[in-house]
Amino acid sequence: MVEYDVIVIGAGSVGVPTALATAESGLKTLVLDSLPSVAQGDNKHAIGGIRATHSLKSKIWLCQRSIEIFASWKKLYGDDIWWEQGGYCFLAFTNEHEQMLKNTVRQQKEYGLNIEYVDSEKIKELVPGVNDGNLLGGTYSPEDGNSSPLLALHAFYRKSKEFGTQYNFNEEVIDITTKNKKITGVKTNKAEYKTQTVINAAGAHAKNVGNMLNIDLPVVPESHEAGITEPVKKFFSTMVIDIKPATDKKFGNSKNYYFYQNKEGKIIFCLTPEPNIPGLNRSETSVFLPQIAKRMVNLLPRLKNIKIRRTWRGLYPMTPDGSPIIGKVDSVEGYINAVGMCGQGFMVAPGLGELISRVITEKLDSKDYQILEELAYGRDYYKIEDLK
Ligand SMILES: Cc1cc2nc3c(=O)[nH]c(=O)nc-3n(C[C@H](O)[C@H](O)[C@H](O)COP(=O)(O)OP(=O)(O)OC[C@H]3O[C@@H](n4cnc5c(N)ncnc54)[C@H](O)[C@@H]3O)c2cc1C
Repeated sequence: MVEYDVIVIGAGSVGVPTALATAESGLKTLVLDSLPSVAQGDNKHAIGGIRATHSLKSKIWLCQRSIEIFASWKKLYGDDIWWEQGGYCFLAFTNEHEQMLKNTVRQQKEYGLNIEYVDSEKIKELVPGVNDGNLLGGTYSPEDGNSSPLLALHAFYRKSKEFGTQYNFNEEVIDITTKNKKITGVKTNKAEYKTQTVINAAGAHAKNVGNMLNIDLPVVPESHEAGITEPVKKFFSTMVIDIKPATDKKFGNSKNYYFYQNKEGKIIFCLTPEPNIPGLNRSETSVFLPQIAKRMVNLLPRLKNIKIRRTWRGLYPMTPDGSPIIGKVDSVEGYINAVGMCGQGFMVAPGLGELISRVITEKLDSKDYQILEELAYGRDYYKIEDLK
């Protein structure tokens, strides 16, 4: 039986950059995925937003490192992953939201984030044509940006193979074997492999993988929809996030929605439904588009004639507090969580992959310990809620 230093379950947003980092640090790495090729889980459903604008220090630091990786990738390795550093704007239309954003900015600055609360004039500069009726201002974090999830993941995939990672597709993990509470191997529908280290990067299916070891993971998939327009001349670069909830008699309620214009000039958009929609349903609905189109045209009237090319639906692997679950567990030696990415798996993953590699090679620094503590499996999931 072939033996590996590390087996990663899942060739998605998290599994691929994690394998890149483990293989680069010299570990013999195997990635297993039940689907036929890389990025076929929820990576390809992400809209490509990348921000370090969170309120937990763990996610700020992980994403700051991710941004360095995305931003330097083309220069280092030559692949164009459509990285663009256009920033993020969270808009405030009510005094309550203004106060909440101002308080969060104070905290974010303490953790080293480059972010300011700006007035409505600055927002109008960043988002030309924005309807400023009740606009009070918003946050602007210029170092955040966006990239193509598929181009980026394929670039990480190719590089990880150069470092020696092996990928087996169409191979579903059906069991993880242990002896005396230590990992001994992985069984799939096709073969068995020996290893002492397994990384759970199974996205929406992470709970099933945890169950193989009696680890009860609070990860519940939720459906989210997105869409893309035809290309038009570039007129804004920032990600726009409208956090004001909305009610619609015909198409139902929604929480925030967000959009940006990508490198090709297409506007990519996504909305958080209210109530949330738990389950594994990836079939797009007829409700999403009229709901978000109304909100976007109201905010940015010049979008009223733009044509929508397509919409799609994917899954957020949600946790109760909206943050990932990372690191080892007490009950099984050799098992590592990289699960519960919520709506942030693409942006967190490159930084996270390097952290997981340092967990295995025991090269953790003081920031790593703080991240692992904040995102530990055993934390109180009902204490803090981060920006989702
Ligand atoms: C509409 C939408 C918009 C989004 N926008 C963004 C965004 O702008 N920015 C951002 O950062 N995130 C975004 N996300 C979230 C992001 O897509 C997810 O957080 C991320 O893809 C999760 O990464 P993952 O590696 O955990 O899961 P995935 O990328 O889904 O990978 C998991 C892989 O594990 C495999 N697998 C599962 N079980 C097994 C098994 N037993 N054996 C073998 N293989 C297995 C699956 O086949 C899959 O390929 C968005 C999501 C949606 C739906």
